[in-house]
Amino acid sequence: MVACAVWYFGGSTERTHRAEVAASLKGVKYRVKCSACGAIAEMDAGEYLANLGPDGVRCTSCGKNSALQIGTADSLDPSQFQEEMKSITTVSEARMAARAVQEELDRVQRALDAAELAKDTGKLASLNAEKAKLNTKSIAIYARWEELRN
Ligand SMILES: [Zn+2]
Repeated sequence: MVACAVWYFGGSTERTHRAEVAASLKGVKYRVKCSACGAIAEMDAGEYLANLGPDGVRCTSCGKNSALQIGTADSLDPSQFQEEMKSITTVSEARMAARAVQEELDRVQRALDAAELAKDTGKLASLNAEKAKLNTKSIAIYARWEELRN
């Protein structure tokens, strides 16, 4: 059980999960602003997530890793979970939160599959919105996780 838990939360699983989130964000663009030089750039949301470090992603103007996402649609802005993330104070709490959000995503995915079969377009739209929000939440959790690990 312990070995299983270690495997589940191991680095490769985290990377795999990030890749899955990145795939679901295909076509979504984030605006990023560098806190060092103030440059604003647009970047692929998946690329942003894949390269996000504790202080942000690499700025294309000055090269510092200080560019953070600003101003996207609310449902895709991880900072909406900022308050909630403050309640996560240890790495193991971050792991639990990541697992909980993954379980939610699995549930939504099953519902999406069912709605697709039933060709229920109204339900598909609301489930896709829920999925986007959960994916965004998982980005916030992983960012918090990185923060706590450092
Ligand atoms: Zn910069």
